[in-house]
Parts: sequence; structure tokens; C-alpha cells
Amino acid sequence: MPERTESESRKLLRRLRDVLAVPGKGQDRLDSITHLIADSMGTEVCSIYLFRDPETLELCATEGLKKEAVHQTRMKLGEGLVGRVARSGVPVNTADAPGEKGFRYMPETGEEIFSSFLGVPIQRVGEKLGVLVVQSKEARGFSEDEVYAVEVVAMVLAEMTELGAFIGDDGAMKALHRQPVMFRGTQGQEGAAEGRVWLHEPRVVVTNPVADDPLTEIDRIRAAVGELRVSIDDLLGAEELDKDQKQVLEAYRMFAHSRGWLRRMEEDIMRGLSAEAAVEKEQSAARTRMEQVADAYLRERLHDLDDLSNRLLRILTGQGKDTGAEMPENPVLVARNIGPAELLEYGRKLRGVVLQEGSVGSHAAIVARALAIPLVIHADRITAEALNGDQILVDGDQGIVHLRPEETVARAFRDKIAMQAEAQKRYASLRGLPAEDTAGTCIRLDMNAGLMADLPSLESSGAAGVGLFRTELQFLIRNKMPKRAELASLYTRVMDAAQGQRVVFRTLDIGSDKVLTYMKPNDEPNPAMGWRAIRVGLDKPGVLRMQVQALIRAAAGRPLSIMFPFVAEHAEFAEARSHVLRELHRERSLGHVAPERLEIGAMCETPSLAFAPRAFFELADFISVGGNDLKQFFFAADRENERVRRRYDTLNLSFLGFLEGIVARAAETGTPLSFCGEDAGRPVEAVALAALGFRTLSMRPASIGPVKALIRRVNLAEAKAVIDTARANGAETARPALLDWLARQTG
Ligand code: PEP
Ligand code: MG
Repeated sequence: MPERTESESRKLLRRLRDVLAVPGKGQDRLDSITHLIADSMGTEVCSIYLFRDPETLELCATEGLKKEAVHQTRMKLGEGLVGRVARSGVPVNTADAPGEKGFRYMPETGEEIFSSFLGVPIQRVGEKLGVLVVQSKEARGFSEDEVYAVEVVAMVLAEMTELGAFIGDDGAMKALHRQPVMFRGTQGQEGAAEGRVWLHEPRVVVTNPVADDPLTEIDRIRAAVGELRVSIDDLLGAEELDKDQKQVLEAYRMFAHSRGWLRRMEEDIMRGLSAEAAVEKEQSAARTRMEQVADAYLRERLHDLDDLSNRLLRILTGQGKDTGAEMPENPVLVARNIGPAELLEYGRKLRGVVLQEGSVGSHAAIVARALAIPLVIHADRITAEALNGDQILVDGDQGIVHLRPEETVARAFRDKIAMQAEAQKRYASLRGLPAEDTAGTCIRLDMNAGLMADLPSLESSGAAGVGLFRTELQFLIRNKMPKRAELASLYTRVMDAAQGQRVVFRTLDIGSDKVLTYMKPNDEPNPAMGWRAIRVGLDKPGVLRMQVQALIRAAAGRPLSIMFPFVAEHAEFAEARSHVLRELHRERSLGHVAPERLEIGAMCETPSLAFAPRAFFELADFISVGGNDLKQFFFAADRENERVRRRYDTLNLSFLGFLEGIVARAAETGTPLSFCGEDAGRPVEAVALAALGFRTLSMRPASIGPVKALIRRVNLAEAKAVIDTARANGAETARPALLDWLARQTG
């Protein structure tokens, strides 16, 4: 790069900093800046557009365009060349703007006379703040160095915008992180909570984007990168690493040693940026690339680079992850994403969790559900908006988050929470009562669990027992395979906590959405129908056997219930069962006490098992319908896919007819039958299931009260008649008829 441009951009930045150092109104500062940039670049026009709302840009200052257009000219994201820069996050540089695709003529600005156009995004680590534009009459493309210089200036503008340097009276010049913002995400776990934001990764604040002495800054960045490299080497040297962690760290090391990365940052510094600002500029560029990459693997690598930039920033600014800030009362965790173990570490002290990414079936979502913490996922941009301590409302029922809400919104929300608390109180009063319908039919209500943290709910919810203990959660929250002794001690604690109430331990259900980091990932085209659950257990029985041994030892003579997930045919069940019996024999011969009673059951999660030979129903000590999986395979609608997962109604009469068939088959052989999918915890669905003949329902602990309350108010035989009539009338689903009937029953 020519030395002339270098020093010019440094000179420009220094002048910029001087302007910013003078106390003044935001508008005056922006006006001075546009004047200064046009002057330094030798262009007739320099304009600054800032976002008024996430979709609209507003001209906030200009040198060269008509002044009357300021705060009047607006454009949508993607509209015109300015909107294009804002949307794509990459510069547009053209000698013939009017000839450019998407050019929008704005007569109020008088811009048709300007031929050359250079627009660069004003953005800060993925947060889009606006667009900086220079234009000239002369039809010329701007040189690479000029583009670079404007980008560096835009970077500084972004930092200063973030620091509140351009606050004015108008909409687009509002202070950042002060306004109420609503996020429409996806429901991860029901429930409502009010609290204060606690950022999992606090933002690093850069207060000195411009530096005087590039050589000092170069020394700083080199020292920081050196420290970063050593810290990664140290991490790599640690003993306790599994293969996956090693792979990620190797990728980190590769980036940390990349000459290109350091060189680009050094070039930015030579143009006048401080070391911190140079790192952020690189990070912003990586984020923009990340948004454009479709390949999942490459995106992951860019994520790695992003993490690495954060580490480097922390070294440079001395702002560690621990900023010294105290976790507020009623903390609501806000994170881009989080691992299950980290979430578990925060534990029950969290009031809610909001993730920018995540997925319904992610391990973190599973843990949030187990902890009964309201969770919203896919809250786009929340980590850029939220600051530690901000007031936040999490509506896990609707998948909505209100950040810094208006008082009226907060008040309405508090009413909702109060109503829920009121209902919980009513349910608590039912705790000691049976789930008995008006005709005296009793339904056993069990709870689903998977973590030690769930067990206190057994007492508080009034559940009869644990109808489904998802053992894979213990595997998912670790980063290496647990040992038999660890499992045995955990299962002992579970059984101790249950105090003789029945606990059904489901053997490891991995594969599909539940991937163990320490087991080789299988690149399967369709993992939900792939090598998962009992299929893995039978093909590689080592873990299954170890788990069964741990269970037998934990039972230590007490009754034991074991259930296999995802059984598709009789032979699979028979084989899995024989593994258990073999282990029982072996354990006995080693001197361990056998369980007083051993029940071995199967989950019915594939339609095929409903049609298994009678021998299967005879051999199984019990069967539990896993409605989540069974429904997805019945309707061929992926339970993880937002587009289709709610498409078919559980009360669809074909599905209810199918479930009725399972009830009838189990009845023929007298095989105890339960239902343990999420639908068991939805009161209307629960009434329908009980009406079909399910006498045991297993659900989230929080659902026991609402389900019991409804069952106690209805006559299940009548509910069955309503379903039958709906079918006879040719209805698709029994829902409208049932709701209508329920409204009449319950007033
Ligand atoms: C089910 O499929 O209904 C079930 C209970 O199992 P999971 O949700 O763990 O797949
Ligand atoms: Mg399942």
C-alpha cells in the first residue's frame, strides 16, 4: 500500500478523533464528520445514513446533498444502493451509480448529478448501524486504498455510535440499547418470567478506536496474539481433552497462527486504528462472511474465528469474561448459544433463558426443560441489543421476548405471571388428590425426568412416580463417557430420592438430535430414522451392558424398571431383553444383589411396533407410547422442523384411531400401557388419551396440576363418546368437538 494513502487515512482519523473529542450535540458532530470526510477524500458528497429501525435507514447528515433531505430521506433495507450496502454488509463501489442495478433516484437529495458512488457499512461485530457514503461528479471508481480508508473511518463511526457519540432528537439518532425491543423467537420451554439480563458473554467495550502511534499498537497486537497462541497451546496440552475439543482447538491454533489474520489487522493499524478496533474490524468482516456461507462446516470454522477474536479482544482490553459485574437478581441468561453443561452450571438460579440461535431439540433446550426454566430460542440479534442488567420479559409460551419493555407491556406481563402463579396455587391444593374423573376412573400421572435436578418435583408436583427417566441427559451434559461407577452412584441417588416410587429408566436414546460429542458422529442423511437408540445399543452393546450393570447395582435389591427406546420390531426387543437378563445373571454371579422385581418394557415410537406379533405384547412387561416420535413418523412430519412440526393435530382422528388400536392390543394381553410424549402434559390431549383408554400418563412435572384439574372435572366415557361422534360425523380432528364439550363441562 502506498505510504501516502496510509498517512492520509491516519491523518483523517486523527482529525475525526479531534472532532469527536469536542463536546457537542450528536447532529453537529455528524455534520462536521461528513464535511471532514468529503474534504479529505476530495469528493463533493459525504453522507451518513443510520438505522431508524431494523428495516429503515435514514439520512442523518450530509455534505453535498441538499440539507433539506436530512432526516427526511429514508429507505428500506435492500432498497437503492445504500440499502444494498446495509443488507449485504459489503461495500458498493461504482463509477456509474445511476447505471447500477437497484439505483434509486431520490430527487429530494439532488443526487442524480453524482456519478461515482462508494458506500460502506457502518457495523460493529455483526450489528448493523448504518452506511457511510461518498459520491463525486467525476465518473471514477474509488481505488482499493480509498475504499479501505473509508472502511476504517466507518469502523470508528461504528464504535462511536455504540458509545453514544451521535445521539440527537431524531428517531435514527436515538441512543442505542435504550429503546424497548421485542424479539419474536421460537418457543423452547413454556412459562413466563421477568428479570434482568445476564449476558453469558459480556460485550467487550472499545473506547479508543483511533491510535496515534501505530508502532505501539503493532507491538500491542503482536504481544496479544503471542499470548493468545500460548494460551491455546496450553489448552491443547491439557490432558482431559476429547477428540472433538482437540479438533476445535486445532482450528483455533491454525487461525491464531495464520499470517493473513495478523497481517490484515496490522494493515488496519497502520491506517490509524487502535489494536482493539483492528480486531473488531476483522471480526465484523468474518461475521458478514458467516452470514453468507451456506455450508455448515465452514460456518462453524467462521464461528471459531469469531470466538478467537473475542479472546484476543479480552486480552487487549483486559476485560475478562468475568467483568466483575454481579449477577442481578432474577437473572435471565442471554446467549448466542450455550452448551448443556454450562447451562446446568447456572442451574435453577436463572429465571429464564433467551438464545439467539439454538434449536428445539438442542441439549441446552433439553436441560432448560428439565429445569423448567422458560426458554425462547432464535431471538435474532438479541446478543447485540441486550446489555447486562436490562429489564427483560420472557414469554416462553409464545416465544416472545420484550427487552427494556414499556411499562404498559410489563404490567400486562406481570398480570399473566400472577395468573399463572394463582393457577399453580390452585393446582398445589390438588396435590394429594387422585386424577379421578367424575365417574371414578383413576388415571395415574407420572412425571418425566432426566437430571437429579428434576427429582424434587416428584414431591412438589404430586406425581405418582417417574414414568420416563431419560438417561441420555447425563451423557449429553458431559464431555466424556461416564464410567459405570459414576452411573451407578447417580442411579442410586435417583432411586433414593424417589423413596420407593417407581422410576422407569429408559436406556440410552442417542442418535437423531441427541449427539454425544465423544462418540464418532455419523453423517447420516436422515438421523431421526437412522442409527439411533436401541439400534446403537444392539449393534454396539458395550454401553448398554454397562448401563444395565449400573442400574442393577444401584437398585441393590430394590425393584427395577428398564425401558428400551425406539424399538421397531419384536426381535429387537427380545434381543435387548436377553442382554439385560444376561447381565443380571452376571451381576448375581459377581455377588451383587438382584432387584426384588425386574420389569423390562419397550417404548412404542414407530408405527411398526403397534402391529408387532402378539408375542411381543406378551413378552413386554409394559409399553410406553413415545408420542413425540410416534406422531412424527405417523404423519411423516419432522418434530424438529418448525415448518411442519405443528402441522398435524394430535387430536386428528386417524391418529387417535391408531392410538386406540394400541390400547386394544395391549388390553388383549393385559400389558400395562402408558403414554409419555409431550402431549400427555397438555390437558385437552391428556383427557383424549385417557378417554381412549390410557390409564397412565407421564409428563413434565409442571403439567401434572393442570392435567389433574381437568380430568377431575370431566367424565372420560363422555369424552370418548364425543370423539366417536366426531369421527362418525367425518371430522378430521376431534379438537373442535372436544373443546366445545369441555367448555360446557367446565363452565
Ligand atoms: C417420545 O418420543 O415421545 C419420547 C418420550 O422420547 P423423546 O422425546 O426423548 O424422543
Ligand atoms: Mg422418542
